[in-house]
Amino acid sequence: MNSYDFNPGDFVQITTTDKVFEGHLMPEYELESREFLFVKLKSGYNVGIRKVQILNIELIKRNVKKEIAGSEEECDFEDADGKILILATGGTIASKIDYITGGVKPAFSANDLLSTVPEISETGVEILGKQILNKFSENLTPDDWIKIAGEVYKCVEKGAKGIVIPHGTDTLHYSSAMLSFMLKNLNVPVVFTGAQRSSDRGSSDATLNLINSIYFASLDPEKFHNKGVFVLMHEGIDDKFCAVFRGTKVRKMHTSMRDAFKGDKFARLNFFEKKFERYENGKILEKDEKNETLLDTKIEKNVMLLKYFPTLTPEIFEILCEKYKGIVIEGTGLGHVHDSLIEPIKKAIDKGTFIAMTSQTIFGRTNLNVYATGRKLLKAGVVPCEDMLPEAAYIKLMFALGHHNKHTDIKNFMLTNIAYEINERSEI
Ligand code: ASP
Repeated sequence: MNSYDFNPGDFVQITTTDKVFEGHLMPEYELESREFLFVKLKSGYNVGIRKVQILNIELIKRNVKKEIAGSEEECDFEDADGKILILATGGTIASKIDYITGGVKPAFSANDLLSTVPEISETGVEILGKQILNKFSENLTPDDWIKIAGEVYKCVEKGAKGIVIPHGTDTLHYSSAMLSFMLKNLNVPVVFTGAQRSSDRGSSDATLNLINSIYFASLDPEKFHNKGVFVLMHEGIDDKFCAVFRGTKVRKMHTSMRDAFKGDKFARLNFFEKKFERYENGKILEKDEKNETLLDTKIEKNVMLLKYFPTLTPEIFEILCEKYKGIVIEGTGLGHVHDSLIEPIKKAIDKGTFIAMTSQTIFGRTNLNVYATGRKLLKAGVVPCEDMLPEAAYIKLMFALGHHNKHTDIKNFMLTNIAYEINERSEI
């Protein structure tokens, strides 16, 4: 069997010398595709079928791919008006197993992603895909954040209804936090999503996450208040619901579970049952009126996120202070470090380094008024970051230092709730 007229996403019946399979054809890739045809079975599992064993392929349902238009070369956003844009950046969601080495490698372009998830045609929304990066997220740099923000802005300017950003999960919450600050007055949803297992694995969460992200991005902001930057990932392990979080209030909390992302939930939803439940009552910062969306990518890259550890010495700390313009400390408990660091912290602040405090407990608020250590840190000029997540505070400090020089201005900015990163009250 050497050639056939079918497209990825077509639902087919394949008869081989010993079995009959039914499922969606997967896109072809490189070496192994010369030998194998990959099919996504109804169970969600994928199989590779040796081409030499195939006797017959019967088309059962053609994938409505024409509606999912736009290859990365063609898509220049001119046609974005009223559509959902998929801006693929790489990561597991856009990867496949390398059947030769057993590793996971980036392989899917935006359009391949769309054809790998044929259920997308059921959403009834018009979609355009573009590959803007192809990296695992551990390799992303601040310049990549600037690029992603710029591409999102272009889509918004061309009238996109919503934007979905498939992204590696490792640093997804850094990117979502950064875009939350770089894109002001968004009038549409921008949804980051990822996958813990690649789309060609049976247990992949890619399909559900992608389809629910498209669903979420297609909801009307007037009705669902879903303007802004969000993260959408699996909720629980039953393959039913996805959870949606604000881009600044979420964190990867498990190395491999599909429901690895936790935070303050904005909503949960299920496209197949058309269910949408919103949690964030009374916390809409923007009025529902539309304002012009602004792109602001000025950041200071010399910022550090430093987890306090018991053997952190004043000498090491002093070296760090010379290198960085801003340091977000992940302190212990309410926001503490060893007494011996307080003097070097004060010196660094007096010399112009901005030092902010978050907590390595992750949940809860910093409070430097309870213990003597905290009060000394406050006196030295450390700024406690309320209940901001350490990563969100680190990203925000980059943005703050990109815009302000004076300590009081930086402090005011850090303590003003800009993109839902601060809750006024901590809920249990
Ligand atoms: N290391 C991968 C990444 O962040 C993991 C993933 O995509 O989930 O790109």
